[in-house]
Amino acid sequence: MLPHLRNVFCVECGRETEKLYDGMCIDCYIKKHNFFSIPVIDIAICKECGAYRIGGKWYRKDIEERLMEYIEGKIEKEIDCDAEINIEKGEIICRGEFGGVEIKRRLPLKMRERHILCDRCSLKKGGYFEAVLQVRKKNLKKEMQEIEGIINRKIDEMNTFISKRENRREGIDYYIGSKKAAAAAAKEIKESFNAEMKKSSSLIGMKDGKELYRDTYMVRLPEYGKESFFKEGERLYRVISVGKKIEMKSLDGVKKSVYREEMEKMKKVEIRTKEADVLHEEKDGLYIMDRENFKTYFVNKPKNWKGNKRIKIVEWNDNIYVIE
Ligand SMILES: [Zn+2]
Ligand SMILES: [Zn+2]
Repeated sequence: MLPHLRNVFCVECGRETEKLYDGMCIDCYIKKHNFFSIPVIDIAICKECGAYRIGGKWYRKDIEERLMEYIEGKIEKEIDCDAEINIEKGEIICRGEFGGVEIKRRLPLKMRERHILCDRCSLKKGGYFEAVLQVRKKNLKKEMQEIEGIINRKIDEMNTFISKRENRREGIDYYIGSKKAAAAAAKEIKESFNAEMKKSSSLIGMKDGKELYRDTYMVRLPEYGKESFFKEGERLYRVISVGKKIEMKSLDGVKKSVYREEMEKMKKVEIRTKEADVLHEEKDGLYIMDRENFKTYFVNKPKNWKGNKRIKIVEWNDNIYVIE
């Protein structure tokens, strides 16, 4: 007689069944079985900057997304799992299928958080820097916001930091955690302000048989821009354009173009341009009125005056000059 293959019984409920799973009918097996589990999730949070260390790496952006991915990867599963992770509630709902039966399991999600310093913040705290960015100009007040904007953007983009900022008589020094960021910031400042840039490196030691260099970027902003004035002899020149050479024009119409280095020979004069209204035109001159103090003057008619009602003037040695 052939053995009666169909005559098997569940060790749990005693029910007769076609197929056994670990000695059990499918219902008992599913009831007794978890299918999914999740270990305690360890993460570290930087107490300085709030970065998260997830699976050995520090993240400052898209933290929730990274965390979800990491948790999902940590689920131990015997069958495919469609996971619904709820960090706030501290639970994961896993859905799957076994032997044609839908499986749904609610797993408690336990997270262990440690508050430490991230790699970046601990370097910063230790005063670490790879490069010094020296911004040079006698008075940086006007440019400050733009300069710091550039530096902070590069620092952010390259995931580094400023470990120290030092005000000096000749400008400001920034001690920066990454050479690349310092180089990028220096380049952008150079381009934005038409500044002069110099790089130097100094050997600071050895590491793993390699020489370690620290870079210094010096960006010198021109002490002049368009509309600044310089004196040479008895002549007052106004800067018209700043490029490789500085183009200038004197109040009496003499043009001059000099290289940057030559600018040092000229004396800067603090003069502000003002606006004036043209009141009346004469054959060889104009009656004008200073818009700030309403004083009226008679001035020589500028060669290229085209009948415009408003002109720019400067006051120099008790005289009023029209500049175009
Ligand atoms: Zn059973
Ligand atoms: Zn940090």
